[in-house]
Amino acid sequence: MGADGVESVEEFRARARAWIRANLRPLEAHEEVGIMRPTRTDEEELAAVARDREIQKALFDAGLAGICFPPEYGGRGLTPAHQRAFNEEITGYEYPQRLQVPTFAPCAAVLLEFGTEEQKRAHIPAILKGEEIWMQFLSEPSSGSDVAAALTTAVRDGDDWILNGSKIWTTGAWWSDWGLCLARTNWDVPKHRGLTVFILPIAAAGVDVQRIEMLNGVKEFCQEFMTDVRVPDSDRIGEVDDGWTVGTRWMFHERMSSGSPYVTSPGTSAHHRIGPDWLLDIARGTGRLDDPLVRDLVGEGRVLDLVGAALHPRLALGMTTGRLSDQAAAIGRLYSGVCATRLTTIAFDIAGGAGAAWADDDGAASDVGADFLMRQTATIGGGTTEMARNVVSERVLGMPREAALDRGRPFREVPRGGRSGG
Ligand SMILES: Cc1cc2nc3c(=O)[nH]c(=O)nc-3n(C[C@H](O)[C@H](O)[C@H](O)COP(=O)(O)OP(=O)(O)OC[C@H]3O[C@@H](n4cnc5c(N)ncnc54)[C@H](O)[C@@H]3O)c2cc1C
Repeated sequence: MGADGVESVEEFRARARAWIRANLRPLEAHEEVGIMRPTRTDEEELAAVARDREIQKALFDAGLAGICFPPEYGGRGLTPAHQRAFNEEITGYEYPQRLQVPTFAPCAAVLLEFGTEEQKRAHIPAILKGEEIWMQFLSEPSSGSDVAAALTTAVRDGDDWILNGSKIWTTGAWWSDWGLCLARTNWDVPKHRGLTVFILPIAAAGVDVQRIEMLNGVKEFCQEFMTDVRVPDSDRIGEVDDGWTVGTRWMFHERMSSGSPYVTSPGTSAHHRIGPDWLLDIARGTGRLDDPLVRDLVGEGRVLDLVGAALHPRLALGMTTGRLSDQAAAIGRLYSGVCATRLTTIAFDIAGGAGAAWADDDGAASDVGADFLMRQTATIGGGTTEMARNVVSERVLGMPREAALDRGRPFREVPRGGRSGG
């Protein structure tokens, strides 16, 4: 302990290292690489979710959960440097991956900022113990990038709200517990001024979760249909019609993603899953280690990884100290998306023929071709890289805002798909 009674980063690191080595399973080579690979049956996925909850509870009991969460809600109240040390120590071991994004950030981070005392006491400790997995009910079939154009509607009914509408692309909603939901509560004001945020159990009456099968066979994406879902006013987050104030910070925490101090993200950068070691393994496995082109590609991968490892903490520090505006989170989001897509392309190029057709025993090169086809998810999920570029140009660099035909117009009057009105 330091003189102030706070566990130093090095003491914490040593304690975390000993616990991780004693309690967690080391990952096998290439176990967690790739993009949404169809490697598990539903039963195996549910078992993996249960294991993630179990690890989270064990971390909580060991005093290693919620490193940057306030102690009054079960966290450790430590610093981002402690979280970084933990990230480094857990690299190469199993960890509760399904609880990180979006449960800890953006959902728990939004609860911490805008939740009432009762909401925080009810949910943050449960989240830190692995009892609650949260999802973002944000994108809709008609609004993804333009989230403020949400059509899901909440209407006041006494002490409750009645929600109707549909959310989509919710990864893992079928095995999750709670949703953070953006809904329209006022159609007579411009779109950003008529939104409110609610929380709801995904198993609530009236919520129908349908799974969406992707081309590679994965069924983790979900669409939720909400029909007369009753939500008590005590489950409202922030003020009525002021959901964009909450939403702005929600987007900030979403863009921080695995760079958030609330999130455990093994490795030194956000791209540990497709990092240089994997590229080297693919080159070795396909007998191309001495190919000058392949050596260039491995080098490029290494540089991308190093830049990411330097950029993300620097952005986080700049935003924490106020040297950078919170909008700079879009720089990190942009880099993560562009970099992950490029690394996946590099892996595909190095794999050569094994990238186009492969056998299960092709080692590191197996499934690289499928990853290549999935590479654009990294530029879409968590807000697209195009939208990140908009934020960087308009909000970080101060360039003129793009034209918007709906600005200042009551949302009811904005034409949508040939019609208007709520
Ligand atoms: C892996 C993954 C996980 C996801 N998880 C979730 C989740 O858990 N919860 C959730 O709610 N959503 C989730 N999403 C959905 C994601 O947030 C949306 O797909 C994304 O915001 C884009 O919305 P859209 O698909 O409706 O595309 P659109 O908004 O229709 O955009 C289509 C294209 O137009 C571009 N575009 C749109 N507007 C502009 C503009 N103003 N300037 C420049 N270009 C523009 C976009 O960048 C994009 O290329 C996930 C998506 C993926 C891929």
